[in-house]
Amino acid sequence: MFAPVLRLYNTLTRSKEKFRPIDPNLVRMYVCGPTVYDYAHIGNARPVIVFDLLYRLLRQIYGVGHVKYVRNITDVDDKINARAAERGVDIRSLTEQTNAIFQADVAALNCLPPDVQPRATEHIAQMIVIIQSLIDKSHAYAADGHVLFSVPSMADYGRLSRRPLDEMIAGARVDVAPYKKGDMDFVLWKPSAPHEPGWDSPWGRGRPGWHIECSAMSWEHLGETFDIHGGGIDLVFPHHENEIAQSRCAFGHDVMANVWMHNGFLQVEGEKMSKSLGNFITIHELLHQDKFGGRKWSGPILRFAMLRTHYRQPIDWTLKGLEEAEANLRNWHDRDVVNAREGAEVPANILAALCEDLNTPEAISLIHALRKAGKAAELKSVLIFMGLYAPELFAKASSGDAQADMSGEEQAQIEAVIAERLAARAAKNWAESDRLRDHLLAMGIVLKDNKDGTTTWERRR
Ligand code: AMP
Ligand code: ZN
Repeated sequence: MFAPVLRLYNTLTRSKEKFRPIDPNLVRMYVCGPTVYDYAHIGNARPVIVFDLLYRLLRQIYGVGHVKYVRNITDVDDKINARAAERGVDIRSLTEQTNAIFQADVAALNCLPPDVQPRATEHIAQMIVIIQSLIDKSHAYAADGHVLFSVPSMADYGRLSRRPLDEMIAGARVDVAPYKKGDMDFVLWKPSAPHEPGWDSPWGRGRPGWHIECSAMSWEHLGETFDIHGGGIDLVFPHHENEIAQSRCAFGHDVMANVWMHNGFLQVEGEKMSKSLGNFITIHELLHQDKFGGRKWSGPILRFAMLRTHYRQPIDWTLKGLEEAEANLRNWHDRDVVNAREGAEVPANILAALCEDLNTPEAISLIHALRKAGKAAELKSVLIFMGLYAPELFAKASSGDAQADMSGEEQAQIEAVIAERLAARAAKNWAESDRLRDHLLAMGIVLKDNKDGTTTWERRR
């Protein structure tokens, strides 16, 4: 079996390191999942896609069944409470509905389901155990129905984010409260009013703070320490810093996870995505509504558009990028690839590129080389491996009956011209696009550009 050296960039050490699992028989990875109160946006899709690719790579290296991937569902949170109250439903029915949409969205992006998707509300008991142990060890204190983590009680707090102390204090000062002893102390548990969701605890009826949820769920499913912890770059501070503080102080280890990985941020057409700017875009809209660029986009195209940029770089989500991604994917899905046998080995140089801190741009240029070399079976394998295989992109480019009296070679030629034309259109080279259409017309082939961005063809009658 292929045994490449996997090297991953670790935010904790700010360097790329050779990955050494604690137990090669079971590599353990935790990724912070969505807060399920509304449709997930395309920025949320980034960590889901990136860590799905890493999961696939780890399974390739260590074997399916030797990797445990946990991605939580944050199903208690003040935004959830507010939305549920607004709609007059309980939080469980809101989060079930939203989670179902999220699961369907990310399945369409060809993301494998993680091994466990724990819900925060089903781990309240574990949170209480950790909080109690932090109190017992003087790392936390109860005050006014709240329990707070005492930041000064931890000598090396701040190791992950390496923020200057005054910045951390400024960040934490946002919620000034009389029960807070230290400026940076953060909430582990807070009281719930009678109309708010709450659970009984030694400190009264209340609910957990956000950070403690992940400490509890990762502990329950992966243990006190584990291999990889991931999420978006915005989570480094305070969320991950505080998860580390809680877990390390409760369990007494030097690390919570050995490797901390963070994907860069996504913006849309050069601007920060926000509801007020009107450029906020959900996965659901991209897949199912004619909104972005006036059309729908299939999951593999969205996934490919995401993976064209290295995961640690910021990504600019643009219409042009999606069009290029589509033209590119279509070009790879030719007749030979669709008809190729399955099960060829994924080429070692492509796995090696991915093993270099998930270097997807390099992997993609190697896939282009495979295509040029006409290695259809290998190309098919790598597309399947990366979750990018989409035979429907090919099937839609040709239409049923028209093929009947045509040789495979003729059809392949037509499809190649269509793919070239799509690439020309993606590059907004309209003259070239028209030239190619006329070229086919001269052969008696009429093209139809469909609303969903696909092009079908038929013989002129
Ligand atoms: P949230 O539901 O806001 O906690 O986010 C869920 C995940 O999506 C976290 O890992 C975030 O870091 C990530 N995320 C949120 N917004 C973006 C964005 N614009 N670009 C990349 N990742 C994001
Ligand atoms: Zn988390």
